[in-house]
Amino acid sequence: MRRTFHLLLILSLCSLAHAFDAARALEIAKKLGSDEFEGRRSGHPGGMKAEQYIENYCKEIGLAPGNKESYFQDVPMLVHKEVSASLSIANSELGKIAFHHGLDFTVCTHSGSGYVQGEVVLVGHGIVAPEKGRDDYQGMDVKGKVIVILRGQPTSNYSLEAEDTRGAALKIAKERGASAVMWHSGAFPVNGAAIAEEHYHAELPLIYIGDRALQVLLENTGKSLKTYKTAIDLAPMPIRTGKQVSLAVRTKELKNRHGRNVIGIVYGSDPVMRNELIVVGAHLDHVGENANGVIYNGADDDASGSGLIAELARSVVEGEPLKRTVVFIWFTGEEDGLIGSTHFVGNATLPFGNIAAMMNFDMVGQGDGGCDISNLDLFGDFGWDYADSLHHAASPIETYASSGDGSSDYAPFVEQGAPGIAFWSSGSHPFYHQLTDDGPWLNEESFASVGKQAEALLRHVGNTQFVPAARSDSLRLISRQSITVDVDGFFVDAVGTVKASRDLTCAWLPHDAKTPMIDLINRCASLHEYCDAHQVASKGLKSAAEAHGNLKRGVFLAIPERGLTGRSARDVATLTKMGLSVVHLTPGDQAVKLGMSDQVFDALESAGAFAMIPLDYNTAPRVQSWGSRAIVTASLKQFAELDSSFRASLMSSQALLMLDVLSTPDSAQIEAIRPGRQRLVHLNFGESYEDLRETEQKASMTTLMQAGFSRDDLFCLFNGNLRRYLGRE
Ligand SMILES: [Zn+2]
Repeated sequence: MRRTFHLLLILSLCSLAHAFDAARALEIAKKLGSDEFEGRRSGHPGGMKAEQYIENYCKEIGLAPGNKESYFQDVPMLVHKEVSASLSIANSELGKIAFHHGLDFTVCTHSGSGYVQGEVVLVGHGIVAPEKGRDDYQGMDVKGKVIVILRGQPTSNYSLEAEDTRGAALKIAKERGASAVMWHSGAFPVNGAAIAEEHYHAELPLIYIGDRALQVLLENTGKSLKTYKTAIDLAPMPIRTGKQVSLAVRTKELKNRHGRNVIGIVYGSDPVMRNELIVVGAHLDHVGENANGVIYNGADDDASGSGLIAELARSVVEGEPLKRTVVFIWFTGEEDGLIGSTHFVGNATLPFGNIAAMMNFDMVGQGDGGCDISNLDLFGDFGWDYADSLHHAASPIETYASSGDGSSDYAPFVEQGAPGIAFWSSGSHPFYHQLTDDGPWLNEESFASVGKQAEALLRHVGNTQFVPAARSDSLRLISRQSITVDVDGFFVDAVGTVKASRDLTCAWLPHDAKTPMIDLINRCASLHEYCDAHQVASKGLKSAAEAHGNLKRGVFLAIPERGLTGRSARDVATLTKMGLSVVHLTPGDQAVKLGMSDQVFDALESAGAFAMIPLDYNTAPRVQSWGSRAIVTASLKQFAELDSSFRASLMSSQALLMLDVLSTPDSAQIEAIRPGRQRLVHLNFGESYEDLRETEQKASMTTLMQAGFSRDDLFCLFNGNLRRYLGRE
């Protein structure tokens, strides 16, 4: 029965001309993964050609440009070309052995150049962390030596996440005077492992070697590859191999080159929700060709993701319009170390704070025809509910919780507080960074299952209001009620230039804005000038204003309270005249008294300002003077520990209590909020540590429910109060 239902559902989806079409996605992936694009290395001709190809595609299917009038965002980066490389061992039992560039060794992206002859020393995982009881060098002198480092970390007794990175190991190798570094990670060397710019050293050759070279190096050392690995799992064991290698690497820095993110947009249909963005991303780049002119096509990594989101974009353009805006980004420089996505996050062409969700696709074209998703928990309840619904679906799918770090373009988003989830095709990806990652190995089934799941989720996220479990969700919620002007962010830059696209009028509300009043007024003035000059009011601003019926009450502005004290009523009136009638105040300095003249206060009040009031000796008078426009901020713990009569007076005041939940509430804390659960208390998880917040949020929810709170109570406590409080829904 259920099966029939799903079959019908699938058939009906297939019959829609706009629905995601795996065959088309595969075709684009094969095209991008063909020799024509020379491995799509960022800053190289093949990479630029791929960017051009995607730009044309965006135009063809009707995506709007994502960086003002352009589809491109320039991304500065180090660009290198491999010129030549060779590796040989002079004194093996078989005599001199010259290894094969590609099969036996590869050159790291951003390796330096050099000709090195010297003895090879193995230094385990290359980790030096004496405070954690690990030193892989054990005093071994590696000055002038060629060192071998096995990627990874010992599996027992250590916690060395930060120390097992290539960058950390390289830093130590350089400090100790190694003349070259050879890494080993598997049977065949990966090609294109990138060295971060900060670790780049023009005269230090860096390569990867595979099993064959390492086995020769281990000859007569008493260790095989397997026994050496086991040994360094237990304890450090540096080994002088007695082997002499000749290693020659020549790379060339290509000056004045850079990569480009390609960005295309489908604007949402809902006048308010269109200001919230869903970023759909994949990296367009791969590792290019090696010095021998051998092309690494990266069909799975990540022509597959690029093709998949290209087809997803078409299905969004041609299908039922979504309420939220979808931003498609083909990132550059992922293989160079997430350079393109990191650049976007730091220099977003769109208001970063308005990103409701990020969906990343990396390696979605090979495997067993299933779909894996990780980080879905970052969507909070919404994510769990969706994951639950998937267990009933016909298509095989696995979901994984967020691991705290990430190895593709969603990671910089997550780090900055936007919920980024990652899709990949399930099953093995045996050709990772190998020559064999090529078009013929892509399979349509993988594209179909990942693509259909992604389409369904994208449509669901695109049309559903939910509070993503990223940082600052409460402020995000406030911002949803309004147009927000980010005066310290990228929307208006330091000199007051407005950088936004003409269609965007919404920016993130920073809770730590530090802009002086005069700057604020100047920036707002230039914002208004910009809007006038570009007739923004005819588009985004206007539709958002219409949604609220009144632009003036729709604009939030973040100003620290200290930025207001000492200002005149005229300042505030000027702001009000500029349409900034709702002023959100960040907590004041505890040492500073209210210090505001009656006129300023009146001006703020008539401007519809809210005040965020910390718990201190000024709380009571402030709450009294701000009345229903007071928002008291504290941690739940602090609140529960207050003198009970003071707590009761806050509870019976008109103020909203915004309480940070920093750990699962205990019974005293639960009792403290029980009387206020219907109106006055909002529990905020926005400031807790990211890795804590998910578990804490769920644990808190469970605890509250066990204490007799209903689902509706929870809704109020978790987000409903703000909506009610602001009276906009
Ligand atoms: Zn990739």
